[in-house]
Amino acid sequence: MQVEPFTFSSFMTNCYLCHDQGEAVLVDASCETEAECEQVMNTVEEHDLEVRHLLLTHAHVDHIFGCRFFEKQFGQRFQAHEAAVPFIERAEEQATAFGVEVDPPSVPTTHLAAGDAISFGDVTLEVLYTPGHSPDSISFVHRPSRQALTGDVLFQNSIGRTQGLPETSRAQLLNSITETLLPLGDDVAIYPGHGPPTTIGQERAQNPFVQEALRA
Ligand SMILES: [Zn+2]
Ligand SMILES: [Zn+2]
Repeated sequence: MQVEPFTFSSFMTNCYLCHDQGEAVLVDASCETEAECEQVMNTVEEHDLEVRHLLLTHAHVDHIFGCRFFEKQFGQRFQAHEAAVPFIERAEEQATAFGVEVDPPSVPTTHLAAGDAISFGDVTLEVLYTPGHSPDSISFVHRPSRQALTGDVLFQNSIGRTQGLPETSRAQLLNSITETLLPLGDDVAIYPGHGPPTTIGQERAQNPFVQEALRA
């Protein structure tokens, strides 16, 4: 699985185009402007990709700015955890709270849960439920290539925010990291919602929040 990373908007939120054998999935539509959306489209065209699925790690406003654009482009809705629905229904409220604007996406009708499989090319992504930063946080892992997309759960030397946001739980977030992400294995590459890629091993060794959770 090839992972093409993008970083968009003033929130510096990552968007990933993952592809294999000419088929792709788009994870998190963080592009805020049409020019940013076009950057993704250029990569789709450059690699001549058929985009099979549109996916969200969670529905915070910085991850859904570009949803509307890609829904129209690819004639399908984004798939997300069921708990994303109220966040998407309140997309404009979320945007107002952060002083930005959003063209609200369609409400997801395909709900993803732990253990679900998403296929494209020769790849099958597995869905993991990793709540805490938000109740709808999910991660996608491709075990054969040792790669995972984890949204706003685990960052390089940091973890997802659990203050100033609705329905967060720091305890649940730390549990998602120690019980669901760390067992993936130290060699698994992590593509987070913000910041550079890292690995499970690097975060186990250096991340102060992970170390604190492991000591607890
Ligand atoms: Zn978030
Ligand atoms: Zn985010």
